[in-house]
Amino acid sequence: MRTPIIAGNWKLHMNPKQTTEFVAAVKDKLPEASKVEALICAPAVDLESLANAAAGTNLRVGAENAYFEDEGAFTGETSPKVLKEMGMNYCIIGHSERRGYFHETDEEINKKAKALFANGVTPIICCGESLETREANKQEDWVVSQIKAALAGLSADQVSSLVIAYEPIWAIGTGKTASSDQAEEMCKTIRDTVKDLYNEETAENVRIQYGGSVNPGNVKELMAKPDIDGGLVGGASLKPDSFLELVNYQD
Ligand code: PEP
Repeated sequence: MRTPIIAGNWKLHMNPKQTTEFVAAVKDKLPEASKVEALICAPAVDLESLANAAAGTNLRVGAENAYFEDEGAFTGETSPKVLKEMGMNYCIIGHSERRGYFHETDEEINKKAKALFANGVTPIICCGESLETREANKQEDWVVSQIKAALAGLSADQVSSLVIAYEPIWAIGTGKTASSDQAEEMCKTIRDTVKDLYNEETAENVRIQYGGSVNPGNVKELMAKPDIDGGLVGGASLKPDSFLELVNYQD
């Protein structure tokens, strides 16, 4: 059985004080981590506050990006080794905003996944097609190729433990959610790809999130789909009440 994982992606929002206040507001109302993993991925400048505030609670903590080297002359980058030292459980990589605005390539995302594993931080690997690609009905080819590139050289055990987030770019921050059937169809395609690349067991273990305008009103319907194991949530994760409704969707 895969444990559902609902993750907030704060993007470039929140400061350390707001982070501490947010965690104080949610910490006693989170589900048991064995029932639903509730995770906040925050900007690098907030991670120390996040880790301190979340210590001893059911909240899992993560970063939004990392570099693929642990240290060196890489001005402005974030070390995966230091993320581990700070207590980060997860790190998002390959978000469409990083691929688009910061020109991240599939090859770099693959290197980042390996660097995170080398340091004991679980990657959340994002994939997803643009509106143009969907309108051309090429979304499956696009996402399968992103997944193949991101997972290249990873072991079955590593893939079993990581998280893949399917996020159609046209649904991110637009209020336009993919229908639950569209989301399920692509999450199933991703699981089938993992089965083709590895084996049935790995495909059964890997957790696949849907992301794109997930909110308290649609989370239940999305989570009822057999191949959707969680949500990666931007806007609706910024307010404690809304985050709590998302992570407690089973109640
Ligand atoms: C995201 O940040 O990955 C995302 C899906 O954003 P939103 O929920 O705001 O669409």
